[in-house]
Amino acid sequence: MHNTTPDADRARARIRRRVGPRLAARCVLGPRRYNLCVIHEARYWEPTADGRVRCTLCPRDCVLREGQAGFCYVRKNVDGRLVSLAYGTSTGFAVDPIEKKPLNHFHPGTTALSFGTAGCNLGCRFCQNWDISKARLDELASLEGLTPEAVVALAKAQGAPAIAFTYNDPVIWAEWAVDVARAAHAAGLWTVFVTAGYVSAAARAGIFQHMDAANVDLKAFTEGFYARWTLSHLAPVLETLEWLARETKVWVEVTNLVIPGLNDAPEETRALSAWVREHMGPDVPLHLTAFHPAFKMTDRPPTPPATLTRARAIARGEGLRYVYTGNVHDPDGQTTFCPGCGAAVIERDWHAVRAVRLRGSACAACGTEIAGRFGPVTRTSDGERRSLGLRV
Ligand code: SF4
Repeated sequence: MHNTTPDADRARARIRRRVGPRLAARCVLGPRRYNLCVIHEARYWEPTADGRVRCTLCPRDCVLREGQAGFCYVRKNVDGRLVSLAYGTSTGFAVDPIEKKPLNHFHPGTTALSFGTAGCNLGCRFCQNWDISKARLDELASLEGLTPEAVVALAKAQGAPAIAFTYNDPVIWAEWAVDVARAAHAAGLWTVFVTAGYVSAAARAGIFQHMDAANVDLKAFTEGFYARWTLSHLAPVLETLEWLARETKVWVEVTNLVIPGLNDAPEETRALSAWVREHMGPDVPLHLTAFHPAFKMTDRPPTPPATLTRARAIARGEGLRYVYTGNVHDPDGQTTFCPGCGAAVIERDWHAVRAVRLRGSACAACGTEIAGRFGPVTRTSDGERRSLGLRV
């Protein structure tokens, strides 16, 4: 039964203005706040000549007939318009150390209120978050009808100075991430986008102008790997990475998940590192992280720590100044060393920050500037994660 209070009537009028009368008729008002619309019209789409809709958000370019959802599950043709089913949803919140994103040069020792939705625009057989990325929203426990202000209020209540869009690829729910990011900036919070970088050139500027930092997965350095193991392509990811580094102010770090026998050859790490140095610059941090058997890739062993140590040496040998190992205990591989004098300026173990020897953003020993975004004081932290689940 329809709520008929004046608040509800005003909310329905707002929704009609936003998505038009046909979609508004299918909207459900949220139980606690009246500015909600479960069906939210997407940005980044166009009608096709034959009456379908084309999603222009990612290079997959899905063309959808009435009622059909895209590869990512969360964008759907409803009444001839593309809607974002993920808008206003969350499949869980946590307060994560910023090092877990992973970001080692973006306000180290701080935290980010982190959340994701469901679905993905890639098809990685080794997905380490497959429980949400390979699920539809209606298969998961989730919150619906959230507002950007509710997410910001949660971050503030938890004392988190940043909000991170993560766990599943926020490219597919870009409208929701951007609206939360706007509200976060209005409230003085930072924003973090954790992504595979598989986004169209047409959409990326509108998304990343609202982000302060990004971690982008570079899953391998061959098209063969991308095509076979991720059902996507390498070239658009490289294009996103280079554009981010050259054309935006976003602080960018790169993650390469090292999978035994698939992308761990020394020559591949060498080529990937040389590309990052030449196209993004030697100050871009590279995280070489350990694979664990998951989803449809359970027949391979976890990455041996020695493989990560070797890959790190190769990447440093190619001229990258900040190279880290991840998903393993390796204090040496997770510490930031000053490129000027070699001093350990930020000592870490996994996600914990154990010691800091910086003055502002400079090495306390020799004064060399360390690339990144640092506050006046970088602090130590225990690196612990606090799961909030579906609490708001
Ligand atoms: S974002 Fe989703 S619907 Fe849009 S093109 Fe990519 S996979 Fe298809």
